[in-house]
Amino acid sequence: MAWANQGMQALIPVINRVQDAFSQLGTNVSFELPQIAVVGGQSAGKSSVLENFVGKDFLPRGSGIVTRRPLILQLIQDRNEYAEFLHKKGHRFTDFDAVRKEIEDETDRVTGQNKGISPHPINLRVFSPNVLNLTLIDLPGLTKVPVGDQPADIETQIRDMILTFISRETCLILAVTPANSDLATSDALKLAKEVDPQGLRTIGVLTKLDLMDEGTDAREILENKLFTLRRGYVGVVNRGQKDIVGRKDIRAALDAERKFFISHPSYRHMADRLGTTYLQHTLNQQLTNHIRDTLPTLRDSLQKKMFAMEKDVAEYKNFQPNDPGRKTKALLQMVTQFNADIERSIEGSSAKLVSTNELSGGARINRLFHERFPFEIVKMEIDEKEMRKEIQFAIRNIHGIRVGLFTPDMAFEAIAKKQIARLKEPSLKCVDLVVNELANVIRQCADTMARYPRLRDELERIVVSYMREREQTAKQQIGLIVDYELAYMNTNHEDFIGFSNAEAKASQGQSAKKNLGNQVIRKGWLSVSNISFVRGSKDCWFVLTSDSLSWYKDDILYERKAEKTRRKADE
Ligand code: GDP
Ligand code: MG
Repeated sequence: MAWANQGMQALIPVINRVQDAFSQLGTNVSFELPQIAVVGGQSAGKSSVLENFVGKDFLPRGSGIVTRRPLILQLIQDRNEYAEFLHKKGHRFTDFDAVRKEIEDETDRVTGQNKGISPHPINLRVFSPNVLNLTLIDLPGLTKVPVGDQPADIETQIRDMILTFISRETCLILAVTPANSDLATSDALKLAKEVDPQGLRTIGVLTKLDLMDEGTDAREILENKLFTLRRGYVGVVNRGQKDIVGRKDIRAALDAERKFFISHPSYRHMADRLGTTYLQHTLNQQLTNHIRDTLPTLRDSLQKKMFAMEKDVAEYKNFQPNDPGRKTKALLQMVTQFNADIERSIEGSSAKLVSTNELSGGARINRLFHERFPFEIVKMEIDEKEMRKEIQFAIRNIHGIRVGLFTPDMAFEAIAKKQIARLKEPSLKCVDLVVNELANVIRQCADTMARYPRLRDELERIVVSYMREREQTAKQQIGLIVDYELAYMNTNHEDFIGFSNAEAKASQGQSAKKNLGNQVIRKGWLSVSNISFVRGSKDCWFVLTSDSLSWYKDDILYERKAEKTRRKADE
């Protein structure tokens, strides 16, 4: 092995151990360890390159964003072949299909199944005689369009996550670009250039050389004459989709790759600097050199942190010596505190503790129910002309061939039911808003135990997943209630009779404008919920017209602006 300097090889495992320690503390994101991050567009071939290094199929595949949490992949040379996750320490995976399953499950555990992403990394170690010591971070691919119920800003979310990793000076960037696309528009290179404008720590990887158009080649790029990078480019040929479906062995694929380069007229002369095996070696070497270069700075900052912590520890010991139960007590105390905080935030605080500069969680939830929700209901557009037409059709269809004498109830029911069904959407939206708010409350309350990040994460996870369960139940209930209302309409109810009184009252008042289509429906609803949020109204019977609606909108906009300013001030 001419490449690897054995003494230097030992550096990577040392950094691995430091990395693990930081991951377990939950603070690794803030610390700068030498590492290699793999970036590239979706389907650029990132996963394929990583799998080739390991010689096993073990990464989740599929369409869309498959990698949704950073995967810190530590390759370690060892006589035995197995994998181990940091979150399942001691469990040796020898079946790599199970490794894939575990990555998928662990991804969903944190992100939920809604295809969201999370910056919280998964740590995987692969021990094998076939790997070189190397630590790589697989990051979500850059996407353009959100799919399914992915958040609309998924592109920026992913970009930001990648940037937090690669903007650190200690991070080498493995920029993966398919050779059958234009390098000038490569997502990976563009992003790398943002944080490494001189191309000092970017290593280019060209995949899919086998898929280039007949008569074209990537020779100039691979010779580093075009789009020059200090560390140059390495070309590879991974398995195509067909090979993967046919479960082509990675060994065979590596042989095929080698043959491809030796026999290709444009690449023959540089075949020993191309391919997966070469890439693996050069990365091992570059990472080792890189660690050596950053070691002094790293040692300094580690030492500083350690001194600071030792001081803390010493203070703790002096404070209350020889009490083994103290730690447990402290943890319990924190959980109790969390409990109390949540309750106070939602149920309201005592006059002593009340905050005067922002709304508490409970108050914000109150606002959702009493301001936002009615607003959503009022906002529902009802096209009066359209409704009249519908009523006419309904009446005619009910009469059929006969000529009707009276207006049939069924016509009213058909139209009213349609409107009732529309209540479902704003109601469910209200649940979503409340859940969001609750999640904020939980996060804020959990932050008081930020000194114990693992405890905080676990607590937050348990509480949030309980809340999600209740969310489902609430949504089912809402569905049921609307279904009840649809199943039977009690026209004998006092609200129903009050209906005509209301109209009489309203038209005496100042809002005598005739806008029947909208008024009737809304008045009916408002009478039921007995709401008195309208400024200046002393009576809960009132007519909401487009005028009152527009000032109400202004009010909400004003509130939002105020909150923004407040947040800025907080920061
Ligand atoms: P990722 O989204 O960047 O992780 O990309 P993948 O590694 O999942 O690859 C996406 C698709 O491209 C898969 O179907 C691969 O089989 C295929 N692919 C990747 N690299 C190559 C290559 O060098 N040659 C060929 N023919 N197909 C490739
Ligand atoms: Mg992938």
